[in-house]
Amino acid sequence: MIDGIKIKALSDVLIRCAPISSNINFSKEIMTMTETEQVPQLKIDERVQGFLYEEKSIDEIRQRRKRDAALGYRLLASQRWGDTGDGHISARDPKRTDCFWLLRHAVSFHQARVRDLVLVGPNGELVEGEGVINPAAYYIHAPILSARPEVVSAVHTHTGWGTPFAAEGRPIEPITQESCIFFEDHAIFDDDEVQVQDVEGGRRIALALGGNRAVILRNHGLLTVADRVDEAVGSFVVMERVAEAHMKAMNARPISAEAARYAKKDLTSDGAGRSAFAWLVARYIADPSVVD
Ligand SMILES: [Zn+2]
Repeated sequence: MIDGIKIKALSDVLIRCAPISSNINFSKEIMTMTETEQVPQLKIDERVQGFLYEEKSIDEIRQRRKRDAALGYRLLASQRWGDTGDGHISARDPKRTDCFWLLRHAVSFHQARVRDLVLVGPNGELVEGEGVINPAAYYIHAPILSARPEVVSAVHTHTGWGTPFAAEGRPIEPITQESCIFFEDHAIFDDDEVQVQDVEGGRRIALALGGNRAVILRNHGLLTVADRVDEAVGSFVVMERVAEAHMKAMNARPISAEAARYAKKDLTSDGAGRSAFAWLVARYIADPSVVD
């Protein structure tokens, strides 16, 4: 079925994988493919329509954030992250804005459902849901969400490239297209505290993060934040790929600051992470309703 919204959404997302200089032609090509129904079976357009959907009520916003968080945990699992219970995705509640949703402890990420999320209060108490949480998740996420009122979600887990990259304690440089997303927009938590034991540790991370989209926790791993859950999750996956590029290209030659800023502006103009999230859901989660 063809409609204007779907065509626009599909082209907006697919355009991100095209070389910047060929955006216009690529967009036209994709629209032609859509019209002749030659788009492959992944049905990304339907998922993308969801990612462009604007919620109207508090309940709809809450449901969307929780659903994206559950899908996000499954996406982390699809990359074989969090298999040992390491890592967490937070989703701020739209009404009780000092509270956030987390996956309750002992639920494997690959089995995450909306009903497995619990609402964590400002003192670490459970406001809704039953079970226990990983206390480190509260120590890390609560101070970040408190310090950044516009942030809805933070994502952190230990990854194959992000953690070793973090061990080197060096910043991201604009050495690849995706690296530019983080140009002048990330920080390093240059601290020995790899075992965050209290909210004071989280406050120091929040201080290091500042107003950036991401922070590298030295000797620990990556952490991203965003004003949407899907944006934070998608950005995390992209950041891991950026870390991989840095670890593989040891003698990379960075592009100029001017070129990096241009690429960043283009790549982030409509959200860098949420389009990645839509693609990842289409690729790795056969039926997104499995989390409902
Ligand atoms: Zn960690």
